[in-house]
Amino acid sequence: MIVTKAGGGFVSKCPLCGQNLAEPIFATSHFIGDKSHDLYRFSDAAMHWTCYVHWPHQARFAQLYFEAGLRASERGSQPQYWPTLLKSADALVRYGLVVNEVSVLLRRSGTDIRITQSDWPQWLHGGWRDQCHPELERDALAELMPELVKLTLPGLIVPLAGNNSLPPKTN
Ligand SMILES: [Zn+2]
Repeated sequence: MIVTKAGGGFVSKCPLCGQNLAEPIFATSHFIGDKSHDLYRFSDAAMHWTCYVHWPHQARFAQLYFEAGLRASERGSQPQYWPTLLKSADALVRYGLVVNEVSVLLRRSGTDIRITQSDWPQWLHGGWRDQCHPELERDALAELMPELVKLTLPGLIVPLAGNNSLPPKTN
C-alpha cells in the first residue's frame, strides 16, 4: 500500500533500499495473491524507480505484472470500451473509448502508460522521450515506436468519402 502525507509526500519507505520514497516511483496493484510467492511482499508496494531498474528481480516482476495486466484486459467487465490496438509479446496497446486515452502496457518495465487522445500526436512526435521513465520504459518505447506511429485511434477515424452523415468534430 502506498501511504501519502497530506502535503503530498510519501510516508512509506522503499522496500529495496529502505529510504523514504520520492518520485519517480514504480508501484503495482496487489496482483500476487499467493503469500508463499517470493515476490508477494512487493506487490502493492511502491519503490524508487531507480531501485526498481537495478533490482535483480525486476525483469521477472515486470513480466508477472504484464501478464496480470493481459489477463485483466481479457476478463475485463466491459472490454468493448477498451478495444485492443496492438498486441505483441512485449506490449498491449488499448484505447479507452469513454476516457479517450491510450493505454500502453509494457512487458519490460511492467508499466501502463496513459496518454490522452489530445496529447497523442505530440507524445508520438517525441514527447514520450521526456515524459516516460528513464531506462526500462524509454528503451521499451523506443523499440515499440515504429509500431505505435502506425496506429489509428478509434476516436480519430476519418469517415469514408461519401459518408457525410457524421457532423464534423468541433473540439
Ligand atoms: Zn529505493
